[in-house]
Amino acid sequence: MNKSKDKLSRYVTTECEKLVAGVLRTLKRFEVYAFYIEDLTHYIASMFRDTQHLEGKSRANARRFFLRWNQGKLRQLLREMGEKQGFEVQEVPAAYTSKTCSSCGTIWTDTSASEVSKRIFGEAKKATVSRVAKQIKAPVKGKYGRITTENFVCDCGFHADADANAAVIIGRRGLAGYFVNTTSEAAAEEEAEQEMQEIPSEDGVLQAAVA
Ligand SMILES: [Zn+2]
Repeated sequence: MNKSKDKLSRYVTTECEKLVAGVLRTLKRFEVYAFYIEDLTHYIASMFRDTQHLEGKSRANARRFFLRWNQGKLRQLLREMGEKQGFEVQEVPAAYTSKTCSSCGTIWTDTSASEVSKRIFGEAKKATVSRVAKQIKAPVKGKYGRITTENFVCDCGFHADADANAAVIIGRRGLAGYFVNTTSEAAAEEEAEQEMQEIPSEDGVLQAAVA
């Protein structure tokens, strides 16, 4: 089993390094020497959301797989490789970056986000949303937003690629000096770790991934 894990770990690292090297090359080509990245909280939230449809062991395996092998790998490499090459790298809070309109600033919430938010932030969605909204001075509404994986739509008339919209929000938070709160990040990690420990250990997914 350890052999499979090592093999998978090396594979993931190599692929991530290639990806990051490509991103840094592109930034240099456009003479960009600073960038902002989302913190881990969002990653765990979306990973949990992506595994929501699975049940029992499958879900536990999928979540453990993501946590163990992919958690923060890209972020870590972006930071390490970026800084080594002279980039300025900062992390910004990721809450609602994919739900905020980059044109008018409205935060669009939906009920499916509620459970995830509760689990990740340890509090009801409303409290989290209003906290974020207050910080970035945005109104809060309840439909539209990220309507599919690819599309973001707002009632102000703005629509865009959902990732491009989120990237603008991340960039703006960075430019505003709205950097990550390491305390809440640590709390989110701890909570995710705790949840993982409550699920019985299964390595099937690892075998499946390297098969
Ligand atoms: Zn809008």
